[in-house]
Amino acid sequence: MTFTLRSRQVYLPDGPRPATVTVHDGRIAALGPVDADCDEDLGDLVLLPGLVDTHVHVNEPGRTEWEGFATATRAAAAGGVTTIIDMPLNSLPPTTTVAALREKQAAATGKCWVDVGFWGGAIPGNAGDLPALHDAGVFGFKSFLADSGVPEFPPLDRDGLAAAFASVDALFVVHAEDPGHLRDTLASRAYPDFLASRPPAAEVAAVGTALSAAAAAGVRVHILHLSAADALPLLREAAAGGVRVTAETCPHYLTLDAHAVPDGATEFKCCPPIRDAMNQDGLWAGLADGTITVVVSDHSPSTPDLKRRESGDFAAAWGGIASLQVGLSAVWTEAQDRGFTLADVVRWMALGPADLVGLTRKGRIEVGADADLVAFAPDEPFVVDATALHHRHPVTPYAGAALRGVVRTTWLRGVPVGDTPHGTLLRRSEDR
Ligand SMILES: [Zn+2]
Repeated sequence: MTFTLRSRQVYLPDGPRPATVTVHDGRIAALGPVDADCDEDLGDLVLLPGLVDTHVHVNEPGRTEWEGFATATRAAAAGGVTTIIDMPLNSLPPTTTVAALREKQAAATGKCWVDVGFWGGAIPGNAGDLPALHDAGVFGFKSFLADSGVPEFPPLDRDGLAAAFASVDALFVVHAEDPGHLRDTLASRAYPDFLASRPPAAEVAAVGTALSAAAAAGVRVHILHLSAADALPLLREAAAGGVRVTAETCPHYLTLDAHAVPDGATEFKCCPPIRDAMNQDGLWAGLADGTITVVVSDHSPSTPDLKRRESGDFAAAWGGIASLQVGLSAVWTEAQDRGFTLADVVRWMALGPADLVGLTRKGRIEVGADADLVAFAPDEPFVVDATALHHRHPVTPYAGAALRGVVRTTWLRGVPVGDTPHGTLLRRSEDR
């Protein structure tokens, strides 16, 4: 099947220009002049590549009541995200063996509105499983240096990290908080009490640990959800010294301010935590200078009960933020206010994550790429109605937020995402 789409602003890898996009059998077959004949003129809408979100906790199987493939991928499509890579923990079993990957793939089959790939997990004692798991198609391995929040996914110590890094030449993605710098969180409805328990020093120390282990092993390491801008100099220094390191941050660290978190508003709790406005300026500077190249959701919901919506106790609440459907608009609204362009946002949220995991046909509008496309109204304002999101639960810190940028249509491999799921399961090897 062939069709053509026209927009005055088609976001190509080097920026927007007027163009007509020809889609054939799910791929972008040609890019032509904007005055060519077309089947659909997008008018004032811009055409973006579908976003790639490499940090999503779907939680199925095992904790499907928190989220699931059907709900998460519908939310993704509605938010302009056409590829997600699912994190290896919070589902049961965690994705730490080939058998567990098979269970997860079976659970996802037929339920995905967007394309879905999987991370594997590196935990104590499973270094021997990693090569086979890598061959089975996971995009790399996640590990923690501090408690993960779930007992079946324990953290690695320095020796464990070194053993994992030595077991396979893969991309290792690290939740970088050092347990030695974390303090007990006391029962409290006050956000500052929670924030004080997870200081920037915890991230700085753990980033240092990950970088030295990666340098010693010569593997690629990626720092997940960087919150503390204090760690940016370490990352710059390591990259300049030849360590193969990249880093991501998340919409909540870029758009939400610790001082604005109301008492008891546990929907804002995540680890590492949302910090203050000055720290946020530092993260934007890290994006501007290229130290951070990836912005992804870390969508990690739970049930409202576990989120302690009733008591508002930050110590007891699940740490994780639900934002998959609103990440693009949240980041775009703040980026525009800070003088960045939509091309910057596309680079951070589509091309950057696709490149991170080697998905060379995703996250870009170019000939040969998958026709994963988003018609977007960048100037249209809206207020987030949490109950209208496709997330399983209407709990998000963005509830009531006034944002800009509305997704009108999402195409997955040339087909508008509609009432039936036609996402596929991705394997690392297929797109390398
Ligand atoms: Zn996460």
